[in-house]
Amino acid sequence: MTQDNTALTDISVSLGEDYPEIRESVRRICKDFPGEYWRDLDERSAYPDAFVKALTEAGYLSVLIPETYGGAGLPLRAASVILEEIHSSGCSAGACHAQMYTMGTLLRHGSEEQKRRFLPDIAAGKLRLQAFGITEPTTGSDTTQIKTKADLVSDPAGDYYLVNGQKVWTSRALQSDLMMLLVRTTPADQVSRKTEGLSVLLVDMRQARGKGLEIRPIKAMVNHNTTEIFIDQLRVPAENRIGEEGKGFRYILDGMNAERIIAASEAIGDARWFIRKASTYANERVVFGRPIGKNQGVQFPIARAYTELVAAEMMVRKATALFAAGLPCGEDANIAKLLSTEAAWHAAEACLQTHGGFGFASEYDVERKWREVRVMQVAPVSTNLILSYVAEHVLGMPRSY
Ligand SMILES: Cc1cc2nc3c(=O)[nH]c(=O)nc-3n(C[C@H](O)[C@H](O)[C@H](O)COP(=O)(O)OP(=O)(O)OC[C@H]3O[C@@H](n4cnc5c(N)ncnc54)[C@H](O)[C@@H]3O)c2cc1C
Repeated sequence: MTQDNTALTDISVSLGEDYPEIRESVRRICKDFPGEYWRDLDERSAYPDAFVKALTEAGYLSVLIPETYGGAGLPLRAASVILEEIHSSGCSAGACHAQMYTMGTLLRHGSEEQKRRFLPDIAAGKLRLQAFGITEPTTGSDTTQIKTKADLVSDPAGDYYLVNGQKVWTSRALQSDLMMLLVRTTPADQVSRKTEGLSVLLVDMRQARGKGLEIRPIKAMVNHNTTEIFIDQLRVPAENRIGEEGKGFRYILDGMNAERIIAASEAIGDARWFIRKASTYANERVVFGRPIGKNQGVQFPIARAYTELVAAEMMVRKATALFAAGLPCGEDANIAKLLSTEAAWHAAEACLQTHGGFGFASEYDVERKWREVRVMQVAPVSTNLILSYVAEHVLGMPRSY
């Protein structure tokens, strides 16, 4: 029923503050980007250029790139720690985490030539790989049914794909040089399995904009620099296809466990921030002649959120350890994502409630962070889709869709 865990006795999970130097250094960087910085960006729907530059220069966005290509060659846990610390410091990695989400697809399935062409410049901060175009307006969570299509055209000057379609919620497209784009290369009615016929193209948006690629920002509840993308007769060199034609869905799926673990780590950081903020305020705010934190009605939601955080963090560490050992971790990565985003949401609710009316005042940063963690129930994967994974793949119940 569940995954075979018999071979797992040798897996060790570190407790406490692993990667202490990285944590300390990330905290130091984040100190330069306090609440006022994020509030101002939020008001202007602007991108945190200075913050992303500081992280890039410190090498933190390229930790997953192997040393041969100019990165630090660290494991996924290091990326998790960086993102957790960013969020625990009250900052947001939403502007730059995609480089870590998408990296695995290029590392595992890209050709040696592609890795040499792109990775050193990404590692040096000269090239930004921050956009990930999967979701489409008419297909949503049903990824295998995407309609953006790419037809291979033979050309003496070099074969290319002619791409037509539309993407939605493509975050950071205006702040990225490259976009990893999922397209249909074989019509849905000509494939034997619905997971076949999709391919991944690496689109150089510097060349594509104005030549078949149009990007329009979406005004949203959170400042996530997200956009919709219209693609009309866009030429993408065939040499920019990652891996084999038709196998793109598998490549994307391959990266999903890492994506879930990374998103879960951000949620852990957010939960820590909310719990710290709520406990501090509960101790300081005096009403009826005593700190509000003396009331169990105020204490308990914060304490409960903390217990959920601790449990979720263990799952994140377990999933990461399995991932690092190259063992199946779909169940654990999905559960880690679900538990940590719920822990973060409950911590956000407790923090907002603890702050009473002041929780709604922008200058406390609580309402902004509250909006940000709410998104995690929907993106990068919605809670229902995780539950249906657990129901079907772990508990053996019938497929529901
Ligand atoms: C801020 C933000 C940033 C994003 N960034 C990106 C990005 O960079 N790249 C990208 O490709 N996408 C991105 N997304 C899209 C995100 O991944 C999708 O919103 C998400 O996968 C859900 O798809 P949908 O919005 O179309 O919802 P739908 O698929 O329409 O689902 C709507 C609701 O119905 C539920 N539902 C649907 N089917 C089922 C089912 N079979 N069983 C149970 N419940 C079901 C869902 O859980 C959801 O609650 C982003 C979204 C947001 C909000």
